[in-house]
Amino acid sequence: MNNGKGLSSMLQTAAVMVVLATSVGILSACSPAVNEEPARIELRLMETTDLHAYMLGFDYFRQQPTEAHGLVHTAALIHAARAENPNHYLVDNGDLIQGSALGDWVAEQGAGYVNEHNHPIMRALNYLQYDVGNMGNHEFNYGLEFIDATAAGANFPYISANVLHAESEDTWGKVSEGWDNPMFPPYVILEKPLVDQYGNAHPVKVGFIGFLPPQIVRWDLQHLQGKVRVRDIVAAAEYFVPQMRAEGAEVVVAIPHSGLRNYASYPEFAEQASYQLAAVPGIDAILFGHQHQLFPGSPAYDDLPGVDNERGYVRGIPAVSPGYWGNHLGIIDLTLEQTRTGWGVVASAVSVPAIDERKDEQLEALLMAEHEETLAMLNQPLGAVSERISSLFARIQPSTAVQLINDAQTWYAKAAQENGDLPADLPILSAAAPFRNGSQHADDYTVIAAGEFTLGNLVDLYVYPNTLQVVELTGAQILEWLEMSALAYRQIAANQPSAQPLFARFPSYNFDTISGLEFAFAVSEPPRYNSNGELINAEARRVVNVRYQGEPLDLAQRFLVVTNNYRAGGGGSFPGLDGSTLVYASDEEVRKVIADYARYNTAQNEGELALDLQRNWEILLPAGATVEFRGNDSEAGKAEAALVEGLHRIDQDADGYAVYHLKASEAH
Ligand code: MN
Ligand code: MG
Repeated sequence: MNNGKGLSSMLQTAAVMVVLATSVGILSACSPAVNEEPARIELRLMETTDLHAYMLGFDYFRQQPTEAHGLVHTAALIHAARAENPNHYLVDNGDLIQGSALGDWVAEQGAGYVNEHNHPIMRALNYLQYDVGNMGNHEFNYGLEFIDATAAGANFPYISANVLHAESEDTWGKVSEGWDNPMFPPYVILEKPLVDQYGNAHPVKVGFIGFLPPQIVRWDLQHLQGKVRVRDIVAAAEYFVPQMRAEGAEVVVAIPHSGLRNYASYPEFAEQASYQLAAVPGIDAILFGHQHQLFPGSPAYDDLPGVDNERGYVRGIPAVSPGYWGNHLGIIDLTLEQTRTGWGVVASAVSVPAIDERKDEQLEALLMAEHEETLAMLNQPLGAVSERISSLFARIQPSTAVQLINDAQTWYAKAAQENGDLPADLPILSAAAPFRNGSQHADDYTVIAAGEFTLGNLVDLYVYPNTLQVVELTGAQILEWLEMSALAYRQIAANQPSAQPLFARFPSYNFDTISGLEFAFAVSEPPRYNSNGELINAEARRVVNVRYQGEPLDLAQRFLVVTNNYRAGGGGSFPGLDGSTLVYASDEEVRKVIADYARYNTAQNEGELALDLQRNWEILLPAGATVEFRGNDSEAGKAEAALVEGLHRIDQDADGYAVYHLKASEAH
């Protein structure tokens, strides 16, 4: 309060000086009121997004404190930002309750526990006095009952304009009509008294409207089928923003849990819709997220037309995206001016400060009991591994990390087949990706030392609470799956003396490799698909030398492929994987399957989980090519690199990654 008063009296002094300066030489008969500047309000909007249950400054993978993420650190920035301006709103943009082991622990306790005790994350947001919450996609990972229990504990409204209850079994999924039966209010209009430069308070109507990726109905099919339908983000904005204005909203803030992407032509139900949203009339500011990127600033947003990636504008609209796990706070400062008809935005500024060592210790204390429970859960031993489980070079060659996932999935599916839950006559293959492969920072890799293996290690290996699903595909369809994985690589030219960058901008969670087959990625060839799964080069084939049981793959042969709900339901837009090829959906999380497999296999093999690394795929570099990529620069990284033929560590880059060069072997 004291700070607020100080600021407004400072603003008042400044305004008086302006009035004096402009009055010089003007008729002294004028009353001061006539010469006064119009009333102005500095309104500060603050955003957190994709917190993913990272409340404490704690790294659950390494089990040690960190200052790199956690809401306790973001809270320090929130307090500082509030102290600078008494007029503020604080918004969370979803993907809030899923991610860290703390989130897993609460989910494990179930909706009943949350109803009784309130979700600890909601207690944290209440403590920080959030004003509005928006739903992300990951909120739906634990089912509707769990969302309801969680949202019921919030002391602030939850909104979402494009997720609705399905009227009947037939209307679930992508239905393009009607706005009845929303799951949450589509928007809210809040009216905190805001203080102008003269110290006068005004009840300005500020509207907030939330959106989520329509893809939830596929990604969480098992929870949402028959119950939920979604609408296109832009269609929802076009419908509701005029309604908000008609209800008196003087400022409209859009909160899309959706990123920025410039589609050549906007596809209905686009996952990343914030670019298009900026063109919807009546929106004053955009607080976005979902892509875990910084805006302004991330190089991912450098080349978008009409996007100012330095100042934070998307097609002229101020916009911010504060990274992930609370590592930044998003701030949009709006200057409002009073006119005859109400308040309107006349200026804006965007900033996205990074967290530092400062933290809110009161908030930390509020979550300590659940944190301790989480650590106890993580330290339960599941078994022991005979060698290091690592994803360090998982896009260069087969890795123990991906193999363990595939071994467990195959084990589970074979049991289901013996139970008669899967067609008995089809061979079982398994697909998995290295979830942690350096995409977020230089230590974002899975490295589990040989020896005792805990649930904590498992969360490190398998980051998402995906469930196990099985699809039935032909050999030909499996080739297309691997062609999508091949998008991880850029096209490499032969006989070029300088090192060529190997990795494309491609999420490592989409780099599926398939166990039970042998194959190679011929990276000299152009990509067959784009990242939307659209065929762009019908002649191109990068997946070559594909063999099953030593014989060339029979394109007509049918296979069962074990995967997860995300991929089977269309995640990553892989051809043939859109829900239609699903033959088996387990309720079990893949993580639970791996835990059961680890316990079983350890017991069967005299106290050590047997892991026999299959070298079933390789990259084929063209003759005379050297490629460059970034990797982990730890001792483990250096030790593994030493075992790879043609691989050399060159340097460490500014972000702390090792720079590696890989030379085409003479034999290829
Ligand atoms: Mn997220
Ligand atoms: Mg998301």
